[in-house]
Amino acid sequence: MIPHIRPDLDSIPAYVPGRNHPGAVKLASNETTFGPLPSAAKAIAEAAELANRYPDNQAGDLRTALAEFLGVEVTNIAVGCGSVALCQELVQITCAAPTDEVVYAWRSFEAYPIVTKVGNAKAVPIPLTADLTHDFDAMAAAVTEHTKLIFVCNPNNPTGTALGRAELIRFLDAIPSHILVVLDEAYFEYLRLTPEDRPDGVELGRTRPNVVVLRTFSKAYGLAGLRAGYAVGDPAVIAALMKVHIPFSVNRLVQAAAIASLEARGELLDRTETLIVERERVRDELLAAGYRVPPSEANFVWLPLGDQGVAYTEASAAEGVLLRAYAPDGVRVTIGDPHENDRFLRFATDPAVRGRFTA
Ligand SMILES: *Cc1c(COP(=O)(O)O)cnc(C)c1O
Repeated sequence: MIPHIRPDLDSIPAYVPGRNHPGAVKLASNETTFGPLPSAAKAIAEAAELANRYPDNQAGDLRTALAEFLGVEVTNIAVGCGSVALCQELVQITCAAPTDEVVYAWRSFEAYPIVTKVGNAKAVPIPLTADLTHDFDAMAAAVTEHTKLIFVCNPNNPTGTALGRAELIRFLDAIPSHILVVLDEAYFEYLRLTPEDRPDGVELGRTRPNVVVLRTFSKAYGLAGLRAGYAVGDPAVIAALMKVHIPFSVNRLVQAAAIASLEARGELLDRTETLIVERERVRDELLAAGYRVPPSEANFVWLPLGDQGVAYTEASAAEGVLLRAYAPDGVRVTIGDPHENDRFLRFATDPAVRGRFTA
């Protein structure tokens, strides 16, 4: 007999792993194409020799390194098994009843609806504006007495769009201070807005105890396979996160690799410059070919192809280019190495492809 499982989990789609064709170019997961730096690889190898020992459950050395880097206290930082784990833990520390509400923009990061449902809370998705940015007015208007948590993904995955500092401040000022606002800045390192306009959640959070910022080692820092992200926020929020943290879920290898990568951040951040040149080149060529492509502040671009997206990614996969469709809205294209981007552009700008996909 099948054991009893929470029936509300039926509404969560089962995980479908991404396809992996041998020889194909993978532009589907917003990963960095480079392997870890030699110093990070060495730290990983050394940590592996202690794999029989549990990791530091408090991740003390990593949190100390992050605190120094960000100019905050250790008590302002929690680490998680990827920032996606912190998303789930943030629902856990704020929502306790099925009537508790989590507000987020949609389309946005696919984990938000899932962690909300896993946390047995009520999702309140707010459609993006016509130019595919967060609709802050509508999000603020959606706040009710039941609202416990708000996710703001800036830059937004999968549209790549970002809102500037002034708009973000106006939004934060409109939200009652007892509601936790999560600024998910997974793509912070790829932002190229002007210094005055650049939204920096850590700065904005210094005077706002209801703001918590999420960043990750998975994207610009190139450690997606090892799993570490971090939250920066008020010590009360951080202390609660540590209570629901799955013990030892941030492993020894990633703690060592993250510290080494932070020390070598100059080199890692230099790589983002090359990526941004490619991002703008890919976008310009797509625009020239007649696509609509919103400006991107991340390491991917978005093609709002609507419900043609799935057919588009099937056609690209047949040409050896793996992209991510988000039915029914469009397709996300990760920026890879120049030769990978060329392969995608060859497909995308092919007149036969342009003729078939008219959006
Ligand atoms: C990739 C991503 C994350 C983090 O991923 P982890 O690998 O779990 O750290 C978080 N938020 C958004 C919006 C992302 O795109």
